[in-house]
Amino acid sequence: MAAQSKTYRLKFTGLRLGETGTIALREALAQALGVATERIESVRILRRSLDARQRTLCYEYSLAADICLTAEEFERISSDSRFSLYQEEPMPVGPRLSLKQRPVVVGCGPAGLFAALALAERGCPPLVIERGERISGRVAAVQAFWKHGELNPESNVVFGEGGAGTFSDGKLTARGSSPFKQRVLEELVACGADSDILFDTRAHVGTDRLRRVIPALVERLQQRGVEFRFGRRLDDIVIEQGRVRSVHIAGEMLETGLVVLAVGHSARDTVRMLAGRGMRIEPKGFAVGARIEHPQDLIDCAMRRDGSARSAYGPADYALKHQDTVSGRGVYSFCMCPGGLVIGCSSQPETLCVNGMSFSKRSGSRANAAIVVTVAPDDFNSNDALGGIAFQEHIERLAYAAGGIPYYAPAQCVADFVRGCASIDLPCEHITYTPGVTPADLASLLPVFIVDPLRRALAAFDKKIPGFIEQGILIGFETRTSSPVRMLRDPDTFQAAGIAGLVPVGEGAGYSGGIVSSAVDGLRAGWRVG
Ligand SMILES: Cc1cc2nc3c(=O)[nH]c(=O)nc-3n(C[C@H](O)[C@H](O)[C@H](O)COP(=O)(O)OP(=O)(O)OC[C@H]3O[C@@H](n4cnc5c(N)ncnc54)[C@H](O)[C@@H]3O)c2cc1C
Repeated sequence: MAAQSKTYRLKFTGLRLGETGTIALREALAQALGVATERIESVRILRRSLDARQRTLCYEYSLAADICLTAEEFERISSDSRFSLYQEEPMPVGPRLSLKQRPVVVGCGPAGLFAALALAERGCPPLVIERGERISGRVAAVQAFWKHGELNPESNVVFGEGGAGTFSDGKLTARGSSPFKQRVLEELVACGADSDILFDTRAHVGTDRLRRVIPALVERLQQRGVEFRFGRRLDDIVIEQGRVRSVHIAGEMLETGLVVLAVGHSARDTVRMLAGRGMRIEPKGFAVGARIEHPQDLIDCAMRRDGSARSAYGPADYALKHQDTVSGRGVYSFCMCPGGLVIGCSSQPETLCVNGMSFSKRSGSRANAAIVVTVAPDDFNSNDALGGIAFQEHIERLAYAAGGIPYYAPAQCVADFVRGCASIDLPCEHITYTPGVTPADLASLLPVFIVDPLRRALAAFDKKIPGFIEQGILIGFETRTSSPVRMLRDPDTFQAAGIAGLVPVGEGAGYSGGIVSSAVDGLRAGWRVG
């Protein structure tokens, strides 16, 4: 090397490659730069996305690399728009926190876990209380629900260690990049998640791995002084002179000046209690619809020009959107689970709602997704801030009743739904939902402002994925796409409007939607409070 050469840290975007090994990446990068491979000292993948538009599938990479270059070489490369100098944004360090009483985190989902991490790192490891059980006990409760329709309202698909994401597809998608997001993903990798999640744009873990990663994360937090109490519900909170004084947990009163509320979007009893204690809550729009299930092969053929790619790149997914010009509502697919299962995720007796889940291999023969229509507070016909919750409960009760047998789901062939007639027979052998389904006329259970846009959107989606109508089955209903309320908080301190020491975070508070964004919200709040 010439004496005046030095190491530059560069970002390179738009590298397309079928292979994934670091050696192939170095070689491809060296070729793009026009330098010898040895000059590339290190390569790190920043982002990897699958390009399914090509006849032969390939990944598109963004890379960060340390490269030894002469000044002339650097000047030549600088004129190439694919390269830029790269500097990592550092993770902010929260200042040390000193509190007289131990902080309490309510909820052991992603938001609560990462808020606990931040508080522990600032020197105040909290007490985390969680109404549901540890995953080991929770799995048994969930199996009893899915097999026999026996619901445990305190420990179920949405309540318990790991929160609502534990029995999920484990998609780790979140918009944008930030040091907080990176920190969340790194922590999950340290707890056993695959390192691909650090850069895959459609990262996926699967419920089987999540059930191992979450207890490892809990153990890491315990090592940092965080205490967990499972099977304990926050029943009440005492607020005096605009400040949190204590919490009531399963009959026990605990004095504390800082409560992080990370209760998720299904803790309706808790939200009602908080509204009664004067927390400022406003209604928020969300989306309602049904799960749709298809043969995975249909989706693979429609979405990939390279139909043979499933073994190397996994099953295909889709993201569909339709702007309904008649009603002005958006209709879109949500939480698509390739090779997955449709599952019941009720948490209240005699109400039914569904969602999707998959295992890490996504090897099932069926694909499912929610197809949902946007709803706004005006649709709830109520002046109550909690009108959206009542609206959800109403639809969930109708679904439960239409199922006939406890936690059987009402279902309909999509073709019948579009034509406006109830399905008489269902191809039950192809429906993954358990304990069972009952043929129904779903349109008779939903408001017309959801049914009509849904029908028009399904016709539009059928043009993008031929067979979407003919081979699809709808299972009712998907009501909990996001929180129907927002708990007002100060954008800088994260504290609830007018209540010092109360910190609403995550999906239930209305500030996130999904595993990663909820974890990031908890982490950010944990860094800021105090
Ligand atoms: C079946 C399913 C599949 C999903 N799939 C995905 C996916 O693939 N990717 C994705 O990004 N997101 C997915 N989601 C959404 C994701 O799980 C949530 O966005 C995320 O878990 C929200 O995190 P959170 O911490 O805010 O709340 P939650 O995860 O809901 O956690 C809240 C916790 O608080 C506890 N709690 C509630 N009230 C009390 C109380 N009074 N006292 C004590 N504890 C209480 C609950 O038991 C719960 O464990 C899925 C959700 C479901 C249900």
